[in-house]
Amino acid sequence: MNTKAYSAHSASSLLAPSQIERRDPGDHDVQIEILFCGVCHSDVHTVRNEWLGTIYPCVPGHEIIGRVVKVGAKVVKFEEGDIAGVGCLVDSCRACASCREGLEQFCEAGAIFTYNSPDKHSGGVTFGGYSESIVVDEAFVLKIPDGLDHAGAAPLLCAGITTYSPLMHNKVGKGQKVGVVGLGGLGHMGVKLAKALGAHVVVFTTSSNKVEDALRLGADEVVHSKDGAAMKKHLNSCHFILDTVAGKHDINAYLVLLRREGTLTQVGVPSEPLAVDVSNLIFGRRNFSGSLIGGLKETQEMLDFCGRHDITADIELIPIQKVNDAYDRLVKSDVKYRFVIDMASLRQASALA
Ligand code: NAP
Ligand code: ZN
Ligand code: ZN
Repeated sequence: MNTKAYSAHSASSLLAPSQIERRDPGDHDVQIEILFCGVCHSDVHTVRNEWLGTIYPCVPGHEIIGRVVKVGAKVVKFEEGDIAGVGCLVDSCRACASCREGLEQFCEAGAIFTYNSPDKHSGGVTFGGYSESIVVDEAFVLKIPDGLDHAGAAPLLCAGITTYSPLMHNKVGKGQKVGVVGLGGLGHMGVKLAKALGAHVVVFTTSSNKVEDALRLGADEVVHSKDGAAMKKHLNSCHFILDTVAGKHDINAYLVLLRREGTLTQVGVPSEPLAVDVSNLIFGRRNFSGSLIGGLKETQEMLDFCGRHDITADIELIPIQKVNDAYDRLVKSDVKYRFVIDMASLRQASALA
């Protein structure tokens, strides 16, 4: 199938209209007409080759919500007309220990990500959600709970699961003080989810114009991270800190805010290494760890949790023609709090520029 998409042709080129091929659905596949796709900072890192390894042309997008328009003969979970989601994963080996434990993101044969991964069907690379439609094996397609706003639910597929998974893994809950560093797409979901789990939430931001929003989103306290005196008040006090920062920053300023045996989990992926002063780990027996999205089972659990608690992202809906501006704004931390592309704008675009 010929499908309209937006793609980048090099690390320095803008995203532009293009045509891609999608396969016809096989027996286990679901064909989804994409309604909304969130814009994750990982899309920017990849398009601009900041992590190296990008294969061009690159069609990003892994926060996909759409309508099922066709199902293969052996599909059991979905039928035509269902609203469905696709996140960061579209396949894995399904046989290794990680896959068997529902941790497909750590597939030992190499997880197949929604974009920029080898695509066994086409022989090329996978193409993501900045497109009209996508075809995915039903094992990697999520059910979207009734009642959630579709555009606001799209960011749950990456920003939601990437923050939910470490909160669950670290057993965050009532009676705990949790720090969230960086109030962007991931950070604002982290605040909503940690609050729904019952934690006392402190946001650390570099943007003074996000303070009121942080409180509205559910934070109990907000700290301007450049204010040394304000930071000092939180020394040795946090059970858990989630660091979502996309750029270079001083990780030690946050490690010292952990109480004894507390954990800081890094989910932001700056393109440069972060320098850790190990004495901040040694004194207090503190932990510094990382976390990568979440497996399919946990992603469905997170969606169901959001359905029960009526949690979606705070979004700015944009036509796809504005996606390059959105990237520039993301890099400047000018996001409140997730850009989501209304894919009707791609479908309606009459001619390819
Ligand atoms: P985002 O919307 O751009 O948010 C990042 C926020 O971090 C910014 O809004 C800003 O918040 C803060 N920030 C950015 N650069 C900073 C700097 N140099 N120093 C201090 N603060 C800075 O990005 P996102 O989509 O949430 O993604 C965040 C990071 O997580 C990206 O690196 C992305 O690739 C990564 N990611 C990882 C996973 C995973 O599985 N581990 C999954 C998805 C995304 P304030 O204005 O509040 O300071
Ligand atoms: Zn993402
Ligand atoms: Zn595997």
